Amino acid sequence: MSSGEKDRKDMIQRRAYAKINLGLDVIRRREDGYHEVRMIMQTVDLYDILFFTRREEAGIFVTTDRTELPGDESNLVYRAARLIADTYGIGQGLRIDLQKNIPMAAGMAGGSSDAAAVFHGMNEIFALNMSEEEMCRLGVRIGADVPYCILGGTALAEGIGERLTRLRDAPQCFLLIAKPDIDVSTKSVYDSLQTDRLEHHPDIDGMRAAIESGSLRGMTERMENVLETVTEKRYPIIAQLKKFMKDRGALNALMSGSGPTVFGVFETESAAGEAYEELKSRNVVRQVFLSALI
Ligand code: ATP
Repeated sequence: MSSGEKDRKDMIQRRAYAKINLGLDVIRRREDGYHEVRMIMQTVDLYDILFFTRREEAGIFVTTDRTELPGDESNLVYRAARLIADTYGIGQGLRIDLQKNIPMAAGMAGGSSDAAAVFHGMNEIFALNMSEEEMCRLGVRIGADVPYCILGGTALAEGIGERLTRLRDAPQCFLLIAKPDIDVSTKSVYDSLQTDRLEHHPDIDGMRAAIESGSLRGMTERMENVLETVTEKRYPIIAQLKKFMKDRGALNALMSGSGPTVFGVFETESAAGEAYEELKSRNVVRQVFLSALI
C-alpha cells in the first residue's frame, strides 16, 4: 500500500450540518425537568467539518479552531467519542480536529450535530457496523437533539426530541440566516418558559401535512416557535431581523430553537441573495449566511 493510500484510510472527514426548527411547540414540563416538545426539524446547508485520524498512542484527542471552545471533556465531540470508545471497547487512539462554522449557542444544534458526525465518523473509521437505531440510542445520552442530527433531513421530533418520524423533504426554498451577536443559553430559555401560560400553539400537524403535500406556502404560513415568547422579549434584535427579512420578500421568518438565530424563507435565490447583501452591508449582525435546505 502506498503512503497516499494509507493516509486516505487513516484519515476521513465528515460534515456536521446545522438544523433549524420550522416549527417548535412545547407541550409540558415533565417531572424530571425535561420538556416534552413537538418540532419540525430541518437540516440546512451550513456545516462544521470534523477530521478523524487514527493515532499510534491510545486515547481520544480533540482540537478545535476556536479558542472559546476547548477540545476537553466539555466538548460534545469528545463526549461522543469517549462514549463510543467505551461502549465498543476501542483501544486504538483517535484524533478529531473540529473546524467550526456553525454559530455557537445559537439554536442551530451545532454541538449536537458535531456529536452526530462523531457517530458516523467513528462508525466508518473503526468499521463498527452500528445501525442508525444503535447510533440514536447511544446518541440521546449526549443530548436530546443528537438522534435527529444522526438522521438529518426533514423530521418530526417528539418526546424530548428523540422520538423521530422522517418526513418527505420540505419544499425547495432559500434561506437567509442571521445570528445576533448575543449568546443564548438553551437551559435558561426553557427554564423561563411558562408552558401553562402559552396562549397559542403552533399547528405542527398542519405543517407536517403541508410538507407532505409539497406546499411551501402552507409550510411557511405555519412557522411558529413558542420559545420566541421568552427570547424575543429579551432581545428586540430578533423581532427586528424578522421584520427586515419579511420586508424584503421572505415568505416568513422565525427564530430557530431557543435562539437567537433568525432565519427567513425565500422563494427565490435572488431575493434571498439581495436581502443577504443588504443585511451584510448594514453591519448589525456579524454572522450572516445564505443557505438552503438539504
Ligand atoms: P441547540 O440548538 O441544541 O440548543 P445551540 O446551537 O444553542 O444548540 P451549541 O452551539 O450546540 O448550542 O452549544 C451550546 C454550548 O455547548 C456552547 O456554548 C459550548 O459551550 C458547548 N459545546 C460543547 N461542545 C460543543 C461543540 N462541539 N460545538 C459547539 N458548542 C459546544
